[in-house]
Amino acid sequence: MLFDTNIGVAVRCTNCGKLAIRNISLFNLPKDGFNEERCGCGRVLFKIKSGDSKSFRVHINCIACGKEHLYTFSSKLILSGKLKILNCPSSRLDISFVGNRELVRNVAIKHQKDLQELIKVLEV
Ligand SMILES: [Zn+2]
Ligand SMILES: [Zn+2]
Repeated sequence: MLFDTNIGVAVRCTNCGKLAIRNISLFNLPKDGFNEERCGCGRVLFKIKSGDSKSFRVHINCIACGKEHLYTFSSKLILSGKLKILNCPSSRLDISFVGNRELVRNVAIKHQKDLQELIKVLEV
């Protein structure tokens, strides 16, 4: 049986507002330090590292409140082909999608419109 060890992470850049979808291989994550993913504009989108052998941690720069939030996942959950919606603990808004690559892509594109509305509201 072949496992897909790549996950998708969709997050919106806090600098330029673009939706970024990255593929991350969970088995290539550094044990020390973080793997930083940057937007085309240079801003860090999120940082990811492995925790113990069964989990990994993601720090996401939040588009909603401007802070950095930490989320911990079990690798099993993510690799089982599911999708996790991450929300901002302050504003409760959905800020990121993590999980199965196909699902992440589909859901992120679907939510793109909602997020654009959200950003308009935040910019007022
Ligand atoms: Zn950017
Ligand atoms: Zn937040």
